[in-house]
Amino acid sequence: MTLIANHPPTAELQALDAAHHMHPFTHNDELAEKGARVITRARGVTLTDSDGNEYLDAMAGLWCVNIGYGRDEIAEVAARQMRELPYYNTFFQTSHVPGIALAAKLAELAPGDLNHVFFAGSGSEANDTNIRLVRTYWAQKGQPEKNIIISRKNAYHGSSMGSASLGGMTPMHEQGGLPIPDVHHIDQPHWWDEGGEMSREEFGLERARQLEKAIQELGPDRVAAFIGEPVQGAGGVVIPPDSYWPEIQRICDEYGILLIADEVICGFGRTGKWFGSQTYGIRPHIMTLAKGLSSGYAPIGASVVCEEVAAVIDACEFNHGYTYSGHPVTAAVALENLRILEEENIVDRVAEHAAPYLGEKWAGLADHPLVGEARTIGMMGTIALTPDASARAKFAGNAGDVGLICRENCFQNGLVMRHVGDRMIISPPLVITDAEIDTLVERAWTALDLTH
Ligand code: PLP
Repeated sequence: MTLIANHPPTAELQALDAAHHMHPFTHNDELAEKGARVITRARGVTLTDSDGNEYLDAMAGLWCVNIGYGRDEIAEVAARQMRELPYYNTFFQTSHVPGIALAAKLAELAPGDLNHVFFAGSGSEANDTNIRLVRTYWAQKGQPEKNIIISRKNAYHGSSMGSASLGGMTPMHEQGGLPIPDVHHIDQPHWWDEGGEMSREEFGLERARQLEKAIQELGPDRVAAFIGEPVQGAGGVVIPPDSYWPEIQRICDEYGILLIADEVICGFGRTGKWFGSQTYGIRPHIMTLAKGLSSGYAPIGASVVCEEVAAVIDACEFNHGYTYSGHPVTAAVALENLRILEEENIVDRVAEHAAPYLGEKWAGLADHPLVGEARTIGMMGTIALTPDASARAKFAGNAGDVGLICRENCFQNGLVMRHVGDRMIISPPLVITDAEIDTLVERAWTALDLTH
């Protein structure tokens, strides 16, 4: 407690961090040499580090702080709930008010007949739940062999054994015995990197039809579900061609395949509607939620399930759950976050103003000599770094070297952007102001100049 309340100087914190803290997705020895940036506070869209430096956080943490940092209402709700009922489970025929209220609220917000909610502690856990949900669904319907889940290369669905198997990140599959059996990956709709001579829309159709081909090869009686992020986030903000999702939907409908929309990033206003499925006209049987559900103020995940799937699952004992499924404090925090999103019209403001404004400013980065495409959808953006935009060329050397330099140059200029290979991506808090968007794009331009 003393260390937190009254922390020592940065060098001492970095030494303790290096000695004891294993960071996720990090080469920890390399980090120990230079020392981690220690973030000590945040307000709105601004982070402050232990030396007092400020950064505009264009990533909303990890795509999650949709309402911005430092909302006292959330802290107050969490404190109140901790005093009232800090924990109780929902396993053994008990329930509690925040869990009931949040499930009902999500049923109201979710599109179509997605009316049933299974809570988890994270997006990874929710996707593990989804694997078991869809396989149990088909087994209950007398088709246990219908258990293959089709996903996409370069997708990210989490880090647990199941969710990372759904994901299509090869560096993850090279470690720890992934993927689990009966997961199949098709190519992603990444036109800039993989579209060749095809138009965006032709390419979108071609990539969607890989799903049909895979179903035919594997056998429709073997394929349980297809899972996809409406926009692949961690893969580099891969904004699909408009032709892509309608064709995926047609194929799932035609072959009787369950469709899981992983809305962990796209949910809660990120693409300009409450859910990415609404932006792309997807009608999922199950949605995966996390991140923006609590704006990252507390860890939570959820599977939101349609009437038909829920009816089959509810007719058996589904032997699955987490100690923190529907945690009362987290649920109360998520409800307060949803109240803020609704009462402050944050999603409408994104659609009507913030997203078009960001889109226009971000598009200007395409004029930089280091930039190929510059795209946004809602409040997500991506730029491809390239030595030759017209040829959609790649840099020589390791993919990601230039992106890494650019990310560091962003930090030096008070901006947090993430790199995925040689691509820079953003996903700022939805409450970012016009002036802050201007600052974001100016700093990005400066970082590109320094990288050039
Ligand atoms: N699904 C998607 C689309 C994600 O982007 C992530 C995390 O970035 C996850 C699932 C996993 O969520 P978590 O990190 O909460 O386990």
